[in-house]
Amino acid sequence: KHLPLHAYCFQNLQEHGSRPCLINAPTGAVYTYFDVDATARKVASGLNRVGVRQGEVIMILLPNCPEFVFAFLGASYRGAMATAANPFFTPAEIAKQAKASNAKVLITQASYYEKVKELEVKVVFVDSCPAEAGDGEDHIHFSQLIEESGEMEEVEIRGDDVVALPYSSGTTGLPKGVMLTHKGLVTSIAQQVDGENPNLYYHCEDTILCVLPLFHIYSLNSVLLCGLRAKATILLMPKFEIKALLGLVHKHRVTIAPVVPPIVLAIAKSPDLTNYDLSSIRVLKSGGAPLGKELEDTLRAKFPNAKLGQGYGMTEAGPVLTMSLAFAKEAMDVKAGACGTVVRNAGMKIVDPETAISLPRNHAGEICIRGDQIMKGYLNDREATERTIDKEGWLHTGDIGYIDDDDELFIVDRLKELIKYKGFQVAPAELEALLLTHPTISDAAVVPMKDEAAGEVPVAFVVRSNGFTHTTEDEIKQFISKQVVFYKRINRVFFIDAIPKSPSGKILRKDLRAKLAAAPSSAPPTP
Ligand code: ATP
Ligand code: MG
Repeated sequence: KHLPLHAYCFQNLQEHGSRPCLINAPTGAVYTYFDVDATARKVASGLNRVGVRQGEVIMILLPNCPEFVFAFLGASYRGAMATAANPFFTPAEIAKQAKASNAKVLITQASYYEKVKELEVKVVFVDSCPAEAGDGEDHIHFSQLIEESGEMEEVEIRGDDVVALPYSSGTTGLPKGVMLTHKGLVTSIAQQVDGENPNLYYHCEDTILCVLPLFHIYSLNSVLLCGLRAKATILLMPKFEIKALLGLVHKHRVTIAPVVPPIVLAIAKSPDLTNYDLSSIRVLKSGGAPLGKELEDTLRAKFPNAKLGQGYGMTEAGPVLTMSLAFAKEAMDVKAGACGTVVRNAGMKIVDPETAISLPRNHAGEICIRGDQIMKGYLNDREATERTIDKEGWLHTGDIGYIDDDDELFIVDRLKELIKYKGFQVAPAELEALLLTHPTISDAAVVPMKDEAAGEVPVAFVVRSNGFTHTTEDEIKQFISKQVVFYKRINRVFFIDAIPKSPSGKILRKDLRAKLAAAPSSAPPTP
């Protein structure tokens, strides 16, 4: 029998309750495990009081902060579901998610008032109620939600009740609502931090950096929930800024830093590294998007004493599919570029994307995963669910990779993003990793451009490092040509100021493809 998510996270409270659970970086405020558990229970009872029934949805629109955590766990205690939205979303995008999930209550902060004022939900402001909102009944302050709430009776929760409704990143299309259950998330956390030889070794003495946004499942699951299960301390940082991040690691002696490739890139290329003592970091984990082997090597050289590796996740998979054995208690040497091995009690196979027939080791194909941790389905979309999870329970990821002789997974790229040069396939991720090794390039992205002879050819968008405006298109093209087979050569280079990326670290290639398409008669945008 499975425990509900909150009970699983707060097990052993008697033993560990007075440990620091959350630190709010901007204020330095510390909340113990007892504090967090007690507040979450009060939120549950407050939600009950304002009319949220079991099985209904609350929406969270907040940067990383303690109230985000209280709200999420409060929803779990109430037997409700929580869906969190990206605070950078437009009012229309927020409204869409609120409507699709039929949210009854929104937990947010005053500065987002303009974005949410049209929503037909009860609003809870965690900081102060904005004057423009008037004194209506439609909004309250967080302290009113948790005051005088008394203890609520525990609700009966079944394993396949949905508790979280995270949205996918919208890299390939519109973000999709994903139903994750109590049993699914508990299974996923157990696959990461529990057991004889856990992949990810978190300890109650650890301090975990929580800079990745909690509205994304990577941070919610692998940073917050795994951290709670381990009774570690979670350092909440509301937004990423490289100097602030380095300063916090130094000040709070952070031991575990889960990051995404854009943050890895910022760390690797930061001129300020030596100004901070970063020696407390013992685990540096990158996930969410491809991390080039070369960048990983650079990082390894800068953090020789840290366990450094990758995790591979996908919202629908709960989200973690694989994790580097570098993080295990008995750490092992791992290969640069590897995404790790499949989590315990789960099945993984590589299939031909056309025929769904299994492929042998060392052959690249579509990655499929099976196990209790994967989603129950897409929200209100049975058809899409059936297209993604087959009759035998395999979730088809849409990612291309291969498993080597040591069971390590290597991701090649997304199926949809491979560039088709005549009969050859080119992975943008491979060329991006090579571009980043150029000393004057600070960031890069590769997309296909239509070509009469070849069908598609790879072209690059490149950001030059400060002070290196003299680096030319030809120089970059030659730099790549020397290292790759002819069909992978970069056909054009366009210089831009920044590569568009999602908060979970993905290159928004559709934005770049749109840039190419918008250029008059396929003439390149001005370099
Ligand atoms: P959408 O499905 O809405 O288009 P998305 O797939 O980017 O967006 P997420 O669920 O946040 O939304 O991301 C999952 C994807 O991220 C995976 O399918 C994979 O392509 C990519 N990814 C995650 N971790 C890694 C990794 N370590 N290496 C390479 N790619 C990764
Ligand atoms: Mg996806």
